[in-house]
Amino acid sequence: MNQYEKMHDKFVEDATNGKQLSPLKAIRHFCLECVGYQQNVIKDCGGEDCPLYKFRYGKNATRKKRKFSPERLAQMKKTLAKARKQKS
Ligand code: SF4
Repeated sequence: MNQYEKMHDKFVEDATNGKQLSPLKAIRHFCLECVGYQQNVIKDCGGEDCPLYKFRYGKNATRKKRKFSPERLAQMKKTLAKARKQKS
């Protein structure tokens, strides 16, 4: 049993116990199972016609990366720092 198979078993156990898991993680684990728990094989799985193909890395490949202006980034940084300060 390799590390990915162990990781998959833990994932299935968590799902069975009612832990909330993301759909992308579920796809990632499905793909791992599909290729016999060989992570490096997922890249070349050859399933271009598979509906999960775009999501096989556990990321949404259709989502565009968001870009923010430096001013907006500074504002977001400030807001995050404030939220973290309130939490502690
Ligand atoms: S994308 Fe489809 S064919 Fe490829 S590994 Fe995932 S489930 Fe299997």
